[in-house]
Amino acid sequence: MNDEIRRQFPFFQQPNHGRELAYLDSAASAQKPQVVLDALERLYARDYANIHRGVYELSARATRAHEGARKTVARFLGARNSSEIIFVRGATEAINLLANTIGRQRLGYGDEILITHMEHHANIVPWQMLCEQTGATLRVTEINDQGELDLDSYAALLGPRTRIVSATHVSNALGTINPLGEMIRLAHERDALFVVDGAQAVPHLPVDVRELDCDFYVFSGHKLYGPTGIGVLYGKQELLAEMPPYQGGGDMIASVTFAQTTYAEPPARFEAGTPDIAGAVGLAAAIDFVEGIGFDAIQAHDAELLAYGTKRLLEIPNLRLVGTAREKVAVLSFVTDIHPHDLATVLDKQGVAVRAGHHCAQPLMERFGVAATTRASLCVFNNKADLDALADGLLEARRIFHP
Ligand code: PMP
Repeated sequence: MNDEIRRQFPFFQQPNHGRELAYLDSAASAQKPQVVLDALERLYARDYANIHRGVYELSARATRAHEGARKTVARFLGARNSSEIIFVRGATEAINLLANTIGRQRLGYGDEILITHMEHHANIVPWQMLCEQTGATLRVTEINDQGELDLDSYAALLGPRTRIVSATHVSNALGTINPLGEMIRLAHERDALFVVDGAQAVPHLPVDVRELDCDFYVFSGHKLYGPTGIGVLYGKQELLAEMPPYQGGGDMIASVTFAQTTYAEPPARFEAGTPDIAGAVGLAAAIDFVEGIGFDAIQAHDAELLAYGTKRLLEIPNLRLVGTAREKVAVLSFVTDIHPHDLATVLDKQGVAVRAGHHCAQPLMERFGVAATTRASLCVFNNKADLDALADGLLEARRIFHP
């Protein structure tokens, strides 16, 4: 399947250091298939106008494209209906939206927010800010040395004051897939709301928000082969209906006088101002692309690359994998006796793009006693040759730094 999929990404048609770039950083952001670029061009070239405003046909067409994208996202996540889908800039904005709306509404002094030790800063800092504003306390579920969530620690930390649990579906730095079903069930037993950070999950796993029964699910378009600047907040209809607006402005109102403004129903209530119209349309094209491949094929490909990549990396002297969960996606984080930044620089010279750093997960790095790791993250356009290039590059780095 793979060559054919890779050919759909124009990015790989340009040579890099004399060969195709082994792009191993899709967890940071994925390259875009031609169908996404075509959708953006079609929207801007033929169907472009502002939405929800004009009575003329062109604006109606742009509105239909935008609202059609909302339906595509709703289907993709298994939402009950498309009004449960709010378009935002990305996962970061979605979590900030929640902290500033339902967070402020529901939390008071002494209440608790429970996260995990493997969160991205986007799922830590907004909750810390909310704690500062409300006097609530942030609690953190422990993980084991493989990078798996400790369900006993989780159950013990869920208490009568836990109002919100927010956890990543898949760890960006380790690849760990969390046992969300059990976590959500336990949280709901305690009447806590459950927010899922799905930024790293949606490119790898089928998601059904109704089956999960999460209250909110967030993700970014750009990691799912879509454009930057567009992301999604899914929320259960009854919760969205009670939430105050996040930002004020055009499009989010029912009526405005100088004395008083009443707000529109969701999703419009949470989408003040002109949205990223093309972004939403591009995201829908990306979702169609992913669904066209199918998650059975995606997961089989993921498992094959994960097994092959793990084997190749373990052949490298003095390399330690960080994150060896039994349930994980194709993310390979590791440390060696060469600094991650030096390693990434040598790899880059050989046409291998990996991420080196703390991966916006500094508390997690601290948990593993490292300042940084090197991370190779794989997705539908990667192949075994990319992993061979990585292994060759790592051996070359050894020759340079430890001759
Ligand atoms: N959560 C996770 C798990 C992530 O990996 C990322 C992106 N690295 C984010 C949230 C934030 O996504 P964005 O920067 O697109 O808002």
